[in-house]
Amino acid sequence: MNKNIAVIRGDGIGPEIVNEALAVLDTVGDIYGHTFNYTDVDMGGCAIDKWGEPLPDEMLEKCKNSDSVLLGAVGGKKWDTVPGHMRPEKGLLKLRAGMGVYSNNRPAKIWPQLADASPLRPSIVEQGIDFIIVRELIGGIYFGEHKTTEVNGEKQANDDMCYSESEIERIGRIGFETARKRGKKLCSVEKSNVLDTSRLWKSVMHRLAEEYPDVELSDMLVDNCAMQIVKNPAQFDVIVTENMFGDILSDEASMITGSIGMIPSSSLGSSTCGLYEPIHGSAPDIAGMDIANPIGTILSAAMMLRFSFDMSAEADAIEKAVYDVLEQGYRTADIMPGDEARCKKVGCHEMGQLIIKSLRGTKQ
Ligand code: NAD
Repeated sequence: MNKNIAVIRGDGIGPEIVNEALAVLDTVGDIYGHTFNYTDVDMGGCAIDKWGEPLPDEMLEKCKNSDSVLLGAVGGKKWDTVPGHMRPEKGLLKLRAGMGVYSNNRPAKIWPQLADASPLRPSIVEQGIDFIIVRELIGGIYFGEHKTTEVNGEKQANDDMCYSESEIERIGRIGFETARKRGKKLCSVEKSNVLDTSRLWKSVMHRLAEEYPDVELSDMLVDNCAMQIVKNPAQFDVIVTENMFGDILSDEASMITGSIGMIPSSSLGSSTCGLYEPIHGSAPDIAGMDIANPIGTILSAAMMLRFSFDMSAEADAIEKAVYDVLEQGYRTADIMPGDEARCKKVGCHEMGQLIIKSLRGTKQ
């Protein structure tokens, strides 16, 4: 197969981790007889420096014309003081909206080799952590009107949160369909004791539930959900929630699995052209030091093969290669346990190379 991938390296550790993921994709292409063509796209701080805006329209077009997009991360201190509409993260919001990817899918799964990297008590981890957060991605407060005005001599800021029934319904369906393919349990998370958007959310979810009698639907307030994720994560199979709640809960969920550097994500809309990225940011504190964990990006590339290119065997092979390398004791700094004797610390590039060797079936 021949696939065209738009590649956004972005800022900070973005270029380092994306390069490793592309090397893994090239190896998969070599082994399975596919050709992956890459088109570079500037987005984020680097695009502000080069083009004066975080995502020029021509760059968005390149993404929309591709078979899928692989993204590292954007942002950094250098651009923290630019006006709101010019911030690197605005490029990301424009990309998500422009591609129409309304469903963000983030797995929270603990790798058995990294169980001791979880900050949770072993007795909780032993129950198992394996759930998915389906987050609405292009609506809600992040896409509402933002304004700062002066009222009675002081500044006042407003952020508008809005959801229509159809926006809730399309993400709700993804939640039910995802649960149907897994443990058939869907937890809808909202704040219906306070917010009108949440009351509408809840009523749409219950209407949809009638079409999915095989899926058990439960409701949970977002503050309770934040507690339950650390208290009893094993209770969850699929969580469906709106944009901002999903943003916060999925970072919390990633942390209990060990490291933010391990978690991939996919964002899809109504076509197979998806956006694939690790869930972490550009980690400016470790950029350029070759110590970032590239696994979240490599697993994002695996998700691209599985969900956008229908290449399940290839995706399985990448996931198995990651499993094997962890099993052999190789760790980047973020997942290195205190007991260093059991494991060998490696850098970003070496981790990529080890995964490639494992893919090729070479014994390290
Ligand atoms: P971050 O995720 O970049 O970093 C948080 C912590 O995790 C840091 O200590 C970092 O070193 C570590 N970390 C992150 N990824 C890692 C990896 N692959 N390997 C090892 N350690 C890793 O979050 P932040 O510090 O809050 O944000 C930094 C910048 O990234 C900001 O400009 C923020 O706006 C941006 N950001 C971008 C995205 C995105 O591009 N999707 C997402 C979140 C934050």
